[in-house]
Amino acid sequence: MWNLHLVCHACGQEFPPTHRAPFCTTCQGPLDILYHTPPRSQAGEGPGIWRWRNAFPLAPDLPPVSLGEGNTPLIPLERAGEAAGCSRLWAKLEYLNPTGSFKDRGSALLLSALKALGVQRLIEDSSGNAGASLSAYCARAGIQAVVFVPDTAPRAKVRQIQVYGAQVRLVPGGRQAAALEARRAWERGEGAYASHAFSPFFLEGMKSFALEVFAQTGGDVPEHIVFPVGNGSLLVGTWLGLLLLKQEGRLGRLPRLHAVQARRVCPIVAEWQGGEWKPRPGVRTIAGGVAVSQPARRAQVLQALWETGGQAVAVDEVDIRAWQKVLAQGEGIFCEPTSAVAFAGVALLCAGGVIRPGERVLVPVTGFGLKDRVPRG
Ligand SMILES: [Zn+2]
Repeated sequence: MWNLHLVCHACGQEFPPTHRAPFCTTCQGPLDILYHTPPRSQAGEGPGIWRWRNAFPLAPDLPPVSLGEGNTPLIPLERAGEAAGCSRLWAKLEYLNPTGSFKDRGSALLLSALKALGVQRLIEDSSGNAGASLSAYCARAGIQAVVFVPDTAPRAKVRQIQVYGAQVRLVPGGRQAAALEARRAWERGEGAYASHAFSPFFLEGMKSFALEVFAQTGGDVPEHIVFPVGNGSLLVGTWLGLLLLKQEGRLGRLPRLHAVQARRVCPIVAEWQGGEWKPRPGVRTIAGGVAVSQPARRAQVLQALWETGGQAVAVDEVDIRAWQKVLAQGEGIFCEPTSAVAFAGVALLCAGGVIRPGERVLVPVTGFGLKDRVPRG
């Protein structure tokens, strides 16, 4: 049924697909999929992300846990492009996924795998979107979810998790504290730890983003893709999808992948610039989805930037707020602050000459605005 192994990205240790931790139990590193038969990028017959089933680590006869995720629109942004100094800007509307964020691509794959493994109760930690997404797919799969959420998470996101029937445990002390509590619950045997930050199945679901962009652009992918980055699953998953297309000879050049973080929480940008970032007590960003002080896939994000000629840049709170408004009032796109981070980054990359005049830029609009505190008009 499983034509794969799991392999630790950090130390190389291999585990069977039935391994019950989402990370390496020797060094705590994130896991990758080691395919026995190479995945393929050719489209099949399924709907949404399941059109790319050949690229996923699931047996062909395994029934998917699906809510209709994927196949999100790609639309041009004329006014936002003008404001950013970029004449050819496109958005991929990831907030049109079933729970309002891109996380559904990963949740569909992860829950399909966990259901096949016979999991009945899972544990997750999340600042909101991943928790809501996993909870919805748990409901769909008939699996009980327990989600550890920092007590600073937006109320709308916490309620969304609860609506799907998941048990929410609020944890004081921020994102890392919630992750620690989830891990303790897993160690106590309360359920399978389905960390979206570490799970290789969640990551593999993100490959569908790259394969969709390739299909939607007729194989002529834009020169730049700019991501808001917390744990980095969408950026790294996209990179894996693009590498698959390149290995198969279907894609000549890789687009440059760029990572944007909020200046208040920017460990990846700091490391990219050769420095070190330390969390400051009480300093928070409105972009809660990227407020990750210890990104699980940090090494892979940096490798993807390096190998594609990308950059990592940090943006200010005032610009995040301003870009949320530009998108809503100039384009009719109401995104959460986390998504606006990437657009503020596009403006910086254009001003700095990294994105040159005439080059095409694609940005995923990762989450819907009503999931967070609604700003004044
Ligand atoms: Zn390891």
